[in-house]
Amino acid sequence: MIPDLTSGAEAKPRQPLKFRRIATEEAFATHELLDALHGLTLGMAYDPDVEFLRLLLEDTPLGNRVRPQLTDFEYRLREMDEYGVDMHVLSITSPGVQMFEPSRAVDLSKLLNEQVSLVVKAHPKRFAALAAVAPQDPVRAACEIERAKNVLGLCGVIINSHTNGEYLDQEKYWPILEAAEALEMPIYIHPRAPTAECAKPYRSYGLEGAIWGYQVEAGGHAARILAGGVLDRYTKLKIILGHGGEGIPFWLPRMHYMYEASRAGRHRGSLTIPEYFERNFIVTTSGMNDAKVLQFLMEVCSPSRVMWAIDYPYQKTPEAVEFMDRANISRVFKQMIYAGNAERVFKLTVPK
Ligand code: MN
Repeated sequence: MIPDLTSGAEAKPRQPLKFRRIATEEAFATHELLDALHGLTLGMAYDPDVEFLRLLLEDTPLGNRVRPQLTDFEYRLREMDEYGVDMHVLSITSPGVQMFEPSRAVDLSKLLNEQVSLVVKAHPKRFAALAAVAPQDPVRAACEIERAKNVLGLCGVIINSHTNGEYLDQEKYWPILEAAEALEMPIYIHPRAPTAECAKPYRSYGLEGAIWGYQVEAGGHAARILAGGVLDRYTKLKIILGHGGEGIPFWLPRMHYMYEASRAGRHRGSLTIPEYFERNFIVTTSGMNDAKVLQFLMEVCSPSRVMWAIDYPYQKTPEAVEFMDRANISRVFKQMIYAGNAERVFKLTVPK
């Protein structure tokens, strides 16, 4: 049904596109957030996210390259123009506000959402944005989702995976799920590093970050939501996973078998795991510029539940554009993955 994508080397040269390129997992930061994160890292004991934050915030090659890319929207627009990227769906860089004490996190999230809404208002054809919320205070996070949608015009919610080692399926976080579902705001579960305890075996080889630990963490978060039955309460909730679905699409057959085989004494949801995944989840291609992975995702998730993403500035724009332009798939599917699905999922205005 889906054309073979494995002949990438023979792909045709770029054709002019009549549709938009909307990138759906594009990180930003504000100076206030970076300053606050820097304060947090000072004197903090080992934590896998703090290791990453030090690289980002101090005088390192990565930090010096990435900080302007995160904070300077004119710089970003020039890069988008250079490679023909029409829109970034912006989200706060990981781990966002999720390491601060609750009231600080709430205040920072509100400020961030106000700041990014001004960027979106100044460039409505170029930017949309997800709301940062503080799961540390679930009720105020739910209020912020409402304000983000109805007052600030944001189009979804970003959760940078665990909050103090806890996950969205836990009952204390249900106000967030309830608000997101009621307001039709999709939740993007973006990775951060696993907790220090979970990251232990990965540290010897630097595997706790984006190379492996991020996927274990975010994929595990999604697995809890799929197996825990919470989606029986929030049947219309839309959850987005980056990086080709954080391993979940590949694991679905085994998760399905084991969930059915080992359910004695455990909660049993009304659907199977593949059925929950199909009903509630959407995946993006962030950081997975690979034709074979794209073909697999289109087959497992269907082309209507795959969205294009760059993972700016941590991955490179030209590589993500080149990969998708050259993908040997029908123009109908390419339009859906590049733009149409994002327009539907985030309710973006479609230019005439
Ligand atoms: Mn990312």
